[in-house]
Amino acid sequence: MRTPVLAGNWKMYMTPEEGRQMVQALIPLVADCQEREIVLCPPYTSLAALAEALKGTNIASGAQNMHPAKEGAYTGEVAPGMLKALNCKYVILGHSERRQYFGETDAMVAEKVKAALAANLIPIVCVGETLAQREQGITEPVVDIQVRLGLAGLSPEELAGIIIAYEPVWAIGTGKTASSADAQKVCRFIRSVLSSWHGDAAKKVRILYGGSVKPDNIRELMEQPDIDGALVGGASLKADSFARIVRFE
Ligand code: 13P
Repeated sequence: MRTPVLAGNWKMYMTPEEGRQMVQALIPLVADCQEREIVLCPPYTSLAALAEALKGTNIASGAQNMHPAKEGAYTGEVAPGMLKALNCKYVILGHSERRQYFGETDAMVAEKVKAALAANLIPIVCVGETLAQREQGITEPVVDIQVRLGLAGLSPEELAGIIIAYEPVWAIGTGKTASSADAQKVCRFIRSVLSSWHGDAAKKVRILYGGSVKPDNIRELMEQPDIDGALVGGASLKADSFARIVRFE
């Protein structure tokens, strides 16, 4: 059995104080949730405040990006060990906004995935097609390449420990969700790519869906056999809506 993961990606929203208040409201709403991994990924600047506020709770924190080097002259970047020092357990890598606005390539994603694993961070690796690619009918080849290149060189044991988020770019922040059947189809395809590569390890990989996830659609998404959770943007900014997503309500 794969433990579901409900992860919030706050993107470039929330000051440390706003984040602290959100978390204080969220903690009692999800305190009784067992057998789920609950994750919040705030901007770097709020990681310290969240580390403090989340101590002793069933909610973990993650970063939205990182540099693969241990340290160095990379102005504006943050290293894996710095995230660990702030109690981060997860790191989102290769989000479509990083690919689109900051030129991240699959090769860069692969390097970051290896660095994250070496630092004991669980990578949440994002893949997904654009609207034009979907309309051309090339969703599967696009996702296939992102998965194979982004996870290149991982052993079966390393693969089993990572999380993949399938986020169709056209569904992000648009209010358009992929139908649960469409999302399942692509998530199943991703698992088949992984199993053709590393056999049974593919059964352990958690595959999340992301793109306009809300309390209204989480239950149906979670009923799909290859969807093991959600990566949530907008609806993770409010304690009430994120709690309902975590609770599948
Ligand atoms: P929305 O839930 O706001 O569509 O964002 C999805 C996303 O990009 C999460 O990483």
